[in-house]
Amino acid sequence: GRLTAAEADSDERAVEAALRPRTLDEVIGQERVREQLGLVLDAAKARGRVPDHVLLSGPPGLGKTTLAMIIAAEMEAPLRLTSGPAITHAGDLAAILSGLNEGEVLFVDEIHRMSRPAEEMLYMAMEDFRVDVIIGKGPGATAIPLEIPPFTLVGATTRAGLLPGPLRDRFGFTGHLEFYEPHELDGIVRRSAHLLDVQLTDEGSAEIAGRSRGTPRIANRLLRRVRDYAQVRADGVVTLDVAHRALDLFEVDALGLDRLDRGVLDVLCRRFGGGPVGLSTLAVAVGEERETVEEVAEPFLVRNGFLARTPRGRIATPAAWAHLGLRQPPGTPG
Ligand code: ADP
Repeated sequence: GRLTAAEADSDERAVEAALRPRTLDEVIGQERVREQLGLVLDAAKARGRVPDHVLLSGPPGLGKTTLAMIIAAEMEAPLRLTSGPAITHAGDLAAILSGLNEGEVLFVDEIHRMSRPAEEMLYMAMEDFRVDVIIGKGPGATAIPLEIPPFTLVGATTRAGLLPGPLRDRFGFTGHLEFYEPHELDGIVRRSAHLLDVQLTDEGSAEIAGRSRGTPRIANRLLRRVRDYAQVRADGVVTLDVAHRALDLFEVDALGLDRLDRGVLDVLCRRFGGGPVGLSTLAVAVGEERETVEEVAEPFLVRNGFLARTPRGRIATPAAWAHLGLRQPPGTPG
């Protein structure tokens, strides 16, 4: 349904939630994952069993949480959301697992950041639907086996390769989410504009889509900022001109690179002469966590041909120098 302006404005998070597709059919793009997942769910329904555990991998904002919610909705099962960093002790996980209802979907975001003991407890829970709860310490400690009703674990990670093999192997299905194509993002922007009652032209929508970094979450966020601009500085309609002016104001460049993306390329070219430079050095130079550079900025930069990973470190490509408006010195890599 449509949102009133007041509802839409009340809370950005509420808006994000309202824009989530509710069924697999409403999901735009990701054809392969959608078809694979659809099959897994239909088969489980036909057999009257809980679906196999599902691992979703891909950069932030591509739809992992959305798909977890859809899995629960399609199975008409309750959903419980948690995240790897929130599970610091095995006991935290035992508490969650023992509170699950039959058929429940447990979504663990950033599952690669769970603690080691919790991870080992999870192996057994995934395979045998039971855990051993350790009571007491030292030689007197005893393991109390605890049955868990059949459930479906949906794990999300920025890269499947970050997961230890034994954990990865216990998922029956892994869906790899890819960055979205401009025409798919265009579809997402139009759908969101419709839900938010925003009027936009074809060119306005295409402009937002083209600067969204291949990411639906960013497309929706840019749409909201452009809508603000259209309401305050224009007549409310998102045209190409309005989109241009708004996106320039918010420092989203023509190819959708954000501040972190540009920061990485800038440091790489200006400070390190185009590389090769190691990931840790690069991260320190941009003042970010290593993981953020590797899992958030790099996938987009690599995929769009601005940065290459080599055995000796990261290098800037000629496209990176050109995008920054810098002349690539002769003899530099890339
Ligand atoms: P992740 O969990 O991978 O970080 P989310 O599932 O939270 O990403 O998605 C971020 C936002 O993008 C959601 O609000 C959702 O509305 C939107 N979104 C994601 N994937 C799609 C899609 N395929 N079609 C439409 N909107 C999407």
